[in-house]
Amino acid sequence: MAGTSDSSATHEPIRPLAERRALAANTPIQIQVGGRRFTTTKETLTEESAFFASLLSGRWENTLEDGSYFINADPVLFEHVLRYLRRGVFPLFFDAAKGHDYYRYLALLEEARYFQIPHLQDWLEKKRYVEAVQVVNAAEQREDNPSHWHEHSVVPAGTTIDYYPSWGTRKVYICPRGLFQHRGRPEACGRRCEAARGEGSDLFEEEPCLRCSQ
Ligand SMILES: [Zn+2]
Repeated sequence: MAGTSDSSATHEPIRPLAERRALAANTPIQIQVGGRRFTTTKETLTEESAFFASLLSGRWENTLEDGSYFINADPVLFEHVLRYLRRGVFPLFFDAAKGHDYYRYLALLEEARYFQIPHLQDWLEKKRYVEAVQVVNAAEQREDNPSHWHEHSVVPAGTTIDYYPSWGTRKVYICPRGLFQHRGRPEACGRRCEAARGEGSDLFEEEPCLRCSQ
């Protein structure tokens, strides 16, 4: 019994040291990628990337002399990785004339694997960008709901446009009787729905939706 408490006691001085090294989530940190310097926060890097979670765990003394971290990667591709980690923006390398830049997708997929970012990897592996462009193209023709896609206009042939779609959520009205035909359409609900709701307030559910910016 005495032995166990002794051994934990001997480990105790190590812990405060590790805690001191572990950065607070919102502390700005600097990383050097292929000769370029990026400033971001620990939270941004570690939330989805197992690679950065391990690197910045504070378990190892791995900073350079100036306190920055060295990352052995391509800085141009890393920009897209960081854009994703910061804002959840998925990369779309699409040219209206040439189509998708599959070579860049493949190169970025290697980075997503290296940095262990499952959602970004999934986007690239399953070619979800193809679907996203189809959604954007279809959206251009949807005049019944222009507010949802107000950022888009018809693209003249030969124009190069970078779209940055990301998955967000929107609130959808739910019928108190759970009728699918009334979903998202409160005006479709009648007296029986209102009776089912009683004194309660309207129900909403979050559903994923694609947002784009240029
Ligand atoms: Zn209803």
